[in-house]
Amino acid sequence: MSSLLLTGIRQLVTNDSTDSDLLGVISEAAVAVVDGTVAWVGPEADLPSEHAGLARVDCEGRAVIPGFVDAHTHLVFAGDRSDEFARRLRGERYEDILAAGGGIHSTVEATRNASTEALLEATLARAERMLRHGTTTIEVKSGYGLATGHELRLLEVAAAVGQRSAIDVVPTFLGAHVPANGLDSAAYVDLVVNEMLAACAPYARYCDVFCDEGAFSVAESRRVLEAGRAHGLGLRVHAEQLSRTGAAQLAAELGATTADHLDQITFEDAAALARSQTVAVLLPAVSFSMRSPQPPGRLLWDAGVTVALGTDCNPGTSYAESMFFVVALATVETGLTPEEAIWASTRGGALSIEAGDKGVVEPGAVADLVILDAPSYAHIPYRPATNLAWKVIKDGRVV
Ligand SMILES: [Zn+2]
Repeated sequence: MSSLLLTGIRQLVTNDSTDSDLLGVISEAAVAVVDGTVAWVGPEADLPSEHAGLARVDCEGRAVIPGFVDAHTHLVFAGDRSDEFARRLRGERYEDILAAGGGIHSTVEATRNASTEALLEATLARAERMLRHGTTTIEVKSGYGLATGHELRLLEVAAAVGQRSAIDVVPTFLGAHVPANGLDSAAYVDLVVNEMLAACAPYARYCDVFCDEGAFSVAESRRVLEAGRAHGLGLRVHAEQLSRTGAAQLAAELGATTADHLDQITFEDAAALARSQTVAVLLPAVSFSMRSPQPPGRLLWDAGVTVALGTDCNPGTSYAESMFFVVALATVETGLTPEEAIWASTRGGALSIEAGDKGVVEPGAVADLVILDAPSYAHIPYRPATNLAWKVIKDGRVV
């Protein structure tokens, strides 16, 4: 925790929800941070004298946004699948690679065989790169262990990353990623529900399930999610990515915190999400890497659904770590405006992990901020894949 004063901010994105402007932009602004928490925000000309003596960071005319909240990652894994990526680009289908024992199964094998120290070092390196790209909070799923002890180990690694890095980690149990260990999906769900959840729930905030072709049916997913809730976990759902299964409506019906992917949703699915409190987490870097249809960001936003964004960082379908890149894709490829995409990558992400004090710059908020090496947030989609983080501030400290 630390105290400082940011001055010389040409454009400050506050995401102040009382403002009619979505991003609550303040020009020529200052932000005072005391003990890791935002204490004052406003035009620099109005800075109260009580904050004038804080250690000062002069932004020299740059823009400042809240730290990115990456709402969906599979960060704990070993190995890489660059060969598979190249095979797909040469025309092979992911489903065929998966059916032949490649895909996720090769990552599970590499992850199970990696030492805990190697797994921690690799995951920590990814988290630190994300932090340098302005991401201050990440959701991290297990899901490459697929056996009780292995899943537990991945959640312990996720927690260790949160302790070793300044980045905040929100852990999710994804034991129901794909059926494994020679079990069919029904028998594997029995294992998740009867054994894995009891062991893993104490180390997780959310329970997730991959409801799709080649993974789990809607009925099986319902069993996993209801059991997760019985163990005190919030719910997230991999929904409507490869095929439309009804998973989005299941998420809405169960009051899941998020429904993720949504590439194949219908207007009725969007309407169901809009009637619920479920946040739509869009992952356009997956569609980019997979050359598959992008999620309909415009449709979801216009339907009134709360939208968040994530990298889905994983070794198979999206080895992306930068939310700058994701914002660019969300804008150019899914139909969100720059303002909507910036909001979704910050405030939307915070709502997707139920962190009301993140993704905003207002008194009482966690002081997670990114000083952009640009005069405006509009440079993020305009200059895709550039790391525009000039300085990253986590809990009021320049990291
Ligand atoms: Zn995922």
